[in-house]
Amino acid sequence: MLNTIAAFDRIGEENAFAVLARATALAAQGRDIINLGIGQPDFRTPEHIVEAAIKALKDGHHGYTPATGILPLREAVAADLHKRYGVSVSPDEVMIMPGGKPTMFMSILMFGEPGAEILYPDPGFPIYRSMIEFTGAKPVPIPIREENGFAFSAEETLGLITDKTRLIIINSPANPTGGVTPKAEVDKFVAGLEKWPNVAVMSDEIYDQMTYDGEKHVCLLSYPSIRDRLILLNGWSKTYAMTGWRLGYAVFPGKLYDYARKLAVNLHSCVNAPTQFAGLAALTGPQDAVRAMVAEFDKRRKVVVEGLNKLEGVSCIMPKGAFYAFPNIKKTGWKAKPLANALLDETGVALIGGPDFGVLGEGYLRLSYANSTENIVKALGRMGDFLAKRKAAE
Ligand code: PLP
Repeated sequence: MLNTIAAFDRIGEENAFAVLARATALAAQGRDIINLGIGQPDFRTPEHIVEAAIKALKDGHHGYTPATGILPLREAVAADLHKRYGVSVSPDEVMIMPGGKPTMFMSILMFGEPGAEILYPDPGFPIYRSMIEFTGAKPVPIPIREENGFAFSAEETLGLITDKTRLIIINSPANPTGGVTPKAEVDKFVAGLEKWPNVAVMSDEIYDQMTYDGEKHVCLLSYPSIRDRLILLNGWSKTYAMTGWRLGYAVFPGKLYDYARKLAVNLHSCVNAPTQFAGLAALTGPQDAVRAMVAEFDKRRKVVVEGLNKLEGVSCIMPKGAFYAFPNIKKTGWKAKPLANALLDETGVALIGGPDFGVLGEGYLRLSYANSTENIVKALGRMGDFLAKRKAAE
């Protein structure tokens, strides 16, 4: 039952926002804070995208748009998916959303109910579990393991499916680990799903353009056998440094599309019009800013990982995607959340404790390297001094 206070009491949060608020408050008190906590690019939205929004406002795009988004934008999304992955998607399957989160919100609402089971990655984006619990469904964690390069295991995931499973959430490249699941593993996963025709999949591909070392993103839309039960989540937030604009899209199959359209009509009516024009400019305009940003993240990724591996008791595998490092801190003797708190209070470095992403996140920290190399190096220095001192004091 959704409309009970108990359901609302089960809604979780995203601690990255709480850490951001705390870091901002400390900075306002004059503390020198380096924020490696929040998952958003430290770049400005490219100028031509900003200009397109200004132009849309000046041209008088001030009213409602269709709930599913303006047609040119839905067409541009379909064309972009075709160009990048060779998949054919109709603009009528594309729905423009106010960010990536509403797609997970709606999808989990569609499938979650008491008695149902929903599989989700642990550690993983905290909103998955929060929303599953809200619906009264049983959250079933898919363990995401360091020894597996933080990829999900097809065999393990398939082994968790029961006749109560309604939805499986997967996320690659992944938050918080930076893990990328290789194509062979995704192939195995999709093949195994043939035995479970009633199980839907939501693939969160918000970091699809952020892969490194020549790793090619595998878009789940490329598997015809699950197209009729696949929901794709993607958006502009990360790729085009547009987190504050609130712009995302979903590809919904069959009648789920109409359910989502109705939910949108009930919830937000439509995404604000100038933002949709900005999104159109992003997809149809030059992509060099995206490439430059990813190249910069790639450089920082190496600095972060190399630096983390030099810290006392810390080890970190090289993430293959997104802009997060997920170092193992088990040998420091600290639990993750107390360490994250102590690092913020005592050294001014904001980062997130792994348990904020699920129970299997214990023993890890998440660092977002969406910050300058200079700040990253400074933060690693402070962390190193802190850990060495704390060790010496023991
Ligand atoms: N999915 C994942 C895995 C994310 O990390 C995030 C944001 O951090 C989102 C979805 C939500 O994106 P948006 O800000 O567009 O709602």
